[in-house]
Amino acid sequence: MTDTPRVVRIVIIGAGFSGIGMAIRLRQTGSDDFVILERAGAAGGTWRDNSYPGCACDVQSSLYSFSFAPNPDWSHSYAAQPEIREYLERCATEYDISRHIEPGQNVTSATWSDNTQRWTVTTASQRWQAEFVVMASGPLSEPVLPGIPGLESFRGPVFHSARWDHTIDLTGQRVAVIGTGASAIQFVPRIQPRVTQLDVYQRTAPWILPRWDRAVPQWRKTMYRKFPATQRLQRSALFMLREALLFPFRHPGAAGVIESVALRRLRSQIADSALRAVLVPDYRIGCKRILVSDDYYPAIAAPNVSLVTDAIDRVTAGGIRTIAGHERDADVIILGTGFRATDPPLAPCIVGRGGVSLADAWRGSPTAYMSTTAAGFPNLFMLLGPNTGVGHTSVVLIAEAQIEHALRLCRAMDSRGAGAVEPSAAAQRRYIDWIDTRLATTVWNRGGCSSWYLDRTGRNSTLWPDGIRAFRQRVSVPQLADYVFTPRDALPRTDSQ
Ligand code: NAP
Repeated sequence: MTDTPRVVRIVIIGAGFSGIGMAIRLRQTGSDDFVILERAGAAGGTWRDNSYPGCACDVQSSLYSFSFAPNPDWSHSYAAQPEIREYLERCATEYDISRHIEPGQNVTSATWSDNTQRWTVTTASQRWQAEFVVMASGPLSEPVLPGIPGLESFRGPVFHSARWDHTIDLTGQRVAVIGTGASAIQFVPRIQPRVTQLDVYQRTAPWILPRWDRAVPQWRKTMYRKFPATQRLQRSALFMLREALLFPFRHPGAAGVIESVALRRLRSQIADSALRAVLVPDYRIGCKRILVSDDYYPAIAAPNVSLVTDAIDRVTAGGIRTIAGHERDADVIILGTGFRATDPPLAPCIVGRGGVSLADAWRGSPTAYMSTTAAGFPNLFMLLGPNTGVGHTSVVLIAEAQIEHALRLCRAMDSRGAGAVEPSAAAQRRYIDWIDTRLATTVWNRGGCSSWYLDRTGRNSTLWPDGIRAFRQRVSVPQLADYVFTPRDALPRTDSQ
């Protein structure tokens, strides 16, 4: 590593959706002085990492894309992973972002100094000094490898869905899949026809709604290209429709209608009543992320598939043993076991004022003011961080509002001649209290399930409790009175000053 740090105004950590979005908006607002540090070899984030068969977005692509970079050419209403990855790469090229991306730079620390009013960001090979750090590392980037005893003793290949091993040919193999979440229900139907035997280990039955994916006809693509306003109109209609979907999440009593749609679909696709019985969830719909699929149940009903609902006891050299004492042989184990959403690995590495890291400040329960900034961490922006998840619509809309928040705050800081800005601890506390109160009665907190929305303290630190309009209203334009601006080269003021 060289001794001299490279100096830039802004370091963005992560070249996924939110990092690329931030970079585009910086370019559009005339700023060129930034770098994107990407730990992998290429941009794309979750849409680079998740390359499993059948990977696609479960929000329509016309909404799961940047408002400032529409794509008239989506092939389907729900684009598949290669198309979304291509879209992001195209955005990086068209908006001249690629030259700002530094691949292979895994951030090991980012430390704030009050003396210099700068962050020092370190990777294995480089150091940067920056006025601002933007955390855009994604909430679902770190796979969970379950601590199932014996997993390391399995003699065949084991891999996580987000690290799919394409070198392994599953044809004719006996495959065990652990997990029945959003990822598993997409790849199970794709691998089922190829394998000899597929054992799907289900701990909790998911709620699944019809997907109704459609190819976008050519005339429609042409129309969107020639008359971009028509695509904006379609996006607005979809936006409003999805905003309406929030109602049953906020009022669990109203979820019965949606549950009956899901159950009707289950009945129509699964003839065997015993199998159907174990596929009925035992919690309110929406408590865990609602899944959408047209082909998962038919795959589960296929003769070469067994849905195993006995809890797993251990993995053996040749298969999986359940607590009932049955051992089922397997050649390959695929883990569809989700992500570390509430303890991001970067949290201990981001060190703010007084040597306190985000992990120290959070103590197992991530918090942020307006889900974007944090007291004690000047000039830090978190995109898609605490309480930004949405169960009913596109998270890209959330990231866009946060990006505007960050840009406006940078401008406010410049116009005041300030060197540092952070929310007051009191404002952050008020915001968190509001979030917690608002979440308390939702299906996510009270739906009777355990989900990755809840952190290890039992708090829901992942979801935004309201609609996108409400998020925009609160977040897009920062309430400057809630922020503490420190003059350039001055010591920080505290809340009481
Ligand atoms: P997930 O929804 O967290 O599902 C993990 C699955 O693994 C669950 O069924 C869980 O069971 C099971 N599991 C975890 N540990 C286990 C253990 N030790 N033993 C047995 N089973 C275990 O993970 P995911 O499917 O990867 O999806 C994560 C999130 O990524 C989604 O909620 C969604 O936000 C996003 N995603 C989106 C898309 C899309 O847009 N289409 C696709 C994939 C992922 P329990 O339910 O009992 O915990």
